[in-house]
Amino acid sequence: MDEIEKIISLWKSNILNPSCLKSCDHLCCSKDFSLTEEQARLIFSIDGKMYFPSGKNGQPLLGNNDDAQDGNPEGDQDMIFRTRFSIAEEYCPMHKEGRCGIYDNPLRPKICSDFPVFADAGIRLVVYDSSCSRTERGSALAVFSEAIRQGYRVIDCAEDMEITIKDGRMHKGIIEKK
Ligand code: SF4
Ligand code: SF4
Repeated sequence: MDEIEKIISLWKSNILNPSCLKSCDHLCCSKDFSLTEEQARLIFSIDGKMYFPSGKNGQPLLGNNDDAQDGNPEGDQDMIFRTRFSIAEEYCPMHKEGRCGIYDNPLRPKICSDFPVFADAGIRLVVYDSSCSRTERGSALAVFSEAIRQGYRVIDCAEDMEITIKDGRMHKGIIEKK
């Protein structure tokens, strides 16, 4: 882990993740992500049998990873399922009374624990999802400023915008191709 990855990891464990238990609409649990068969069985099983539920609008909550609009986003061949929570307008079945029912399970998808900020030192990139309102409160400015100072780009994937810091404030602009 480089310095920025450590700063992000601390920021998440000290500030972002603890606030998940406070009032929040838990949008993160209604997003789409890829799953291995084991993970899909954990999330979509009743009495040990896998099931394929539909949302209130009749759309299925689970599909093949290959059906994802962006292809197989992780490029990981073990990820054969993809949640369709956003299309079905539903929450993950493990989301109960504002909490994750498999929070401590080692099979809980990594993206759930990584959300809402992802840092990759290899390509000097921080990606965050501003649909989690916690990411843009107070402390974000210091974290993103430091990342940019150390040569990272910071992208808001919810709005497809790039963050710059000017006069001590965060600004969002079009993502420049580099
Ligand atoms: S939207 Fe953000 S604050 Fe709310 S539960 Fe998800 S990660 Fe936590
Ligand atoms: S597994 Fe838990 S954290 Fe992940 S989407 Fe489902 S309820 Fe949310």
